[in-house]
Amino acid sequence: MPHAAIALHDQRGPLADTRGRALRDLRISVTDRCNFRCTYCMPREVFGARYEFLPHAQVLSFEEIVRLARIFHGLGTEKIRLTGGEPLLRKGIDRLVAMLREALPAVDLTLTTNGSALKAQAPALRAAGLDRITVSLDSLDEATFRAMNDADFPVAKVLEGIEAAAAAGLSPVKVNMVVKRGVNDHQVLDMARHFRGSAWIVRFIEYMDVGSTNGWRMDDVVPSAEVVRTIGAHFPLEPAEARYRGEVAERWRYVDGAGEIGVISSVTQAFCATCTRARLSTDGQLFTCLFAQRGFDLKGLVRSGATDEAVTAAIAGIWAGRADNYSEVRTAATARERKVEMSFIGG
Ligand code: SAM
Repeated sequence: MPHAAIALHDQRGPLADTRGRALRDLRISVTDRCNFRCTYCMPREVFGARYEFLPHAQVLSFEEIVRLARIFHGLGTEKIRLTGGEPLLRKGIDRLVAMLREALPAVDLTLTTNGSALKAQAPALRAAGLDRITVSLDSLDEATFRAMNDADFPVAKVLEGIEAAAAAGLSPVKVNMVVKRGVNDHQVLDMARHFRGSAWIVRFIEYMDVGSTNGWRMDDVVPSAEVVRTIGAHFPLEPAEARYRGEVAERWRYVDGAGEIGVISSVTQAFCATCTRARLSTDGQLFTCLFAQRGFDLKGLVRSGATDEAVTAAIAGIWAGRADNYSEVRTAATARERKVEMSFIGG
């Protein structure tokens, strides 16, 4: 039984890795497929018509996901984010949300989406027990956005999705914008202006060298400090306290009270020291870092008939041995190393 295993673990004290980091957050990639081909994430040249996505049999079932989520929760996980690929493409995703909510009533349950199917699905996701949502939107400029998503998807539909999510009570909606030099950095101020004064929080994300297909170069990164300077020059900003230790986004508040923005500086200000995130890939591998080169096959363990106690012990052992600090040691050479793709491991 899971609870016996977890009780056994608890007697040894809270789970921590080699740097004392707890296992607080779990990101679950529920599909490796996406209807967008964002040039920095799933470039069409690689993820084209011939690309072989995971066959159904390799994808974790809802029951397997819920079982693993329960086990992670027993090891200290308080927050679960469903992601992908595009999680709203996974058939019956609201059923998975309902199953997770029933199994783990107290867990903070969120989801990251490109927003394309959100208008239709937001009410059902909320009714199923989703707490909050993050929507990716890289530009408000039609041409820039369509070029970046490379699926000719219009801005207006994503904005409708955001409205629908807020109306359904999935608030505060967070809006993620990955900023890439020379591609959408001219849109930073417009984005800030558009969402200022709303209940929605835009988070500007530094473009990262995840995976090995996006051809990342340091020159493409717009440092968060520059984003804050650009916005602050028009709409004065002041730093706001982190809500909790290990919060990924650094918060900045508009001095005139029109809300806040966040910046995620994974390249220029590594936050490995407080990283408490584990990732479960679509095919059930556990990754202890977004920039990992390999994962640990939990699906194999689960499908071999392992007891909850054995799975708990395996995860605890992997986490206890975790030493990842990729962003602290990133160089142009490490950026070229073969790493797992974000669409697979979950953003
Ligand atoms: N399809 C969903 C979406 O679009 O939000 C969820 C998966 S997506 C991989 C999650 C987030 O990762 C998105 O906000 C996306 O912009 C971000 N992302 C992808 N590649 C990135 C990169 N190289 N650097 C920074 N963020 C990236």
